[in-house]
Amino acid sequence: MSANDQSGGGAARQGQLKREGLIFEHGAPGRVGYSLPKLDVPEIDPVESWGADQVRDDIAGFPEVSEVEVVRHFTRISQHNFGVDTGMFPLGSCTMKYNPRVNESVARLPGFAAAHPYMPYSMMQGSLELMERLEQALAGVTGMDRVTLQPAAGAQGELTGIMLIAAYHAHRGEQRTKVLIPDSAHGTNPATASFCGLEPVEIPSNSRGTIDIEALAAEADENTAALMLTNPNTIGLFEDQMDEIARIIHDVGGQIYCDGANLNAILGKTRPGDIGIDVFHINLHKTFTTPHGGGGPGGGPVAVREHLAPFLPWPTVERDDSGMLCLDWQRPQSIGKIHTFQGNFAILVRAYAYIRALGPEGLRQVAEDAVLNANYLRVKLEGHYHLPYQQISLHEVIFSDRKQKKNGVTAMDICKRLMDYGYHPPTVYFPLVVPGALMLEPTETVSREELDVFIDAMIAIAGEAETDPDVVKGAPHSTFLRRLDEVGAARRPVLRWDPQAADTDGD
Ligand SMILES: *Cc1c(COP(=O)(O)O)cnc(C)c1O
Repeated sequence: MSANDQSGGGAARQGQLKREGLIFEHGAPGRVGYSLPKLDVPEIDPVESWGADQVRDDIAGFPEVSEVEVVRHFTRISQHNFGVDTGMFPLGSCTMKYNPRVNESVARLPGFAAAHPYMPYSMMQGSLELMERLEQALAGVTGMDRVTLQPAAGAQGELTGIMLIAAYHAHRGEQRTKVLIPDSAHGTNPATASFCGLEPVEIPSNSRGTIDIEALAAEADENTAALMLTNPNTIGLFEDQMDEIARIIHDVGGQIYCDGANLNAILGKTRPGDIGIDVFHINLHKTFTTPHGGGGPGGGPVAVREHLAPFLPWPTVERDDSGMLCLDWQRPQSIGKIHTFQGNFAILVRAYAYIRALGPEGLRQVAEDAVLNANYLRVKLEGHYHLPYQQISLHEVIFSDRKQKKNGVTAMDICKRLMDYGYHPPTVYFPLVVPGALMLEPTETVSREELDVFIDAMIAIAGEAETDPDVVKGAPHSTFLRRLDEVGAARRPVLRWDPQAADTDGD
């Protein structure tokens, strides 16, 4: 695949842009997308029926459009997007893998899709059994004792997990104040600790990219509520000194929270419960192929060891004496509710469908293929991009822009140029311990052929950075919009079309 620079496309390109520009300017007064039969019942006066304040003659500035205009409008906008259904999405740490369609058909079964959370238990045995089985499957995968399915995402799982740990310490009459967090951690980790009123304390990484054990031992004391680590960590490396880490933290009475965003790398290989971890969250939208869906709804179940189970959010799914499934609210030590009802139930159905479709052998194969793909990228690209950590990596691999920086080309420029080659950019500038980081996670759902084409694109961009750096710095050239003001988009987001603003500034 070669870069497709359409920026100089002349009249045709101008015409295309004009058509695109018309996106929000369709329609004409009186144009409609429906036709109704003639009224054959007595007409009512809406003002008389509902009052003048409830009735309007006109929706100001609302476009009046035909059906085909609406369909083309939304279809065209969807084509400006990039998703896991479009192509390889190597966004490191996010595990953007393909979402199998069988998950969708199972989630749409009427018994699941039309279930109401207030149905009597006798009518929701199937849904409760799915939750019971998913809990057991996740406990099995993680080697933990109990699981709550309520949290809606990893970040909410972290909040739940640290609340569980705080409740555990409080129950023992202890007021612990700090959470130790390695410097390679995701930003949600320190945010979670602060949100719970605890002080995040940064632990440096050693030159191998794993936790500096001496620094950890120096910080760990009777004020340590927890260590929050990520394993494999965000550098894609396995924390191989878990015995020592667990001993240090447990000796001072602390708990070990593990951020499970990288579970994909160790599925069926290592179980957090077997390596000293007390609490572990699972991102269903990463490891278990439920859609990321533009920020939600997701699933962030939290798995715990037995001693933390009494504090889990209520209600839990249990069986009564007759074997009937029910929801148990009689949990006096529970931290309470974390999400309405049972979390994002339809997401739970998808994750369960995926687990059953693969089985234990399939899940192990996922981890093996994900790790193989990341290392294939590492080996093929290490001659072209600076590789800060030399070891064999797990499911993701980190390069940096150090080589390209000499020509003024940054990680951000490389990402933007990748879009011209038809790929979603990798994660950039994360983890913070690697300046100019480019974090690639191909996942197991990409084929060898696609990986090779992606590698060619990365190598071509490295070449351009030498011979024609301006083409990289000016990228993207082929997208509908060129380089965007990302800071402005985050600080001053325009989330809906405003006809007045469109009239005045023409944008
Ligand atoms: C994705 C991620 C999170 C946050 O998970 P969400 O499900 O997006 O809330 C936390 N830690 C790491 C390492 C992650 O990659």
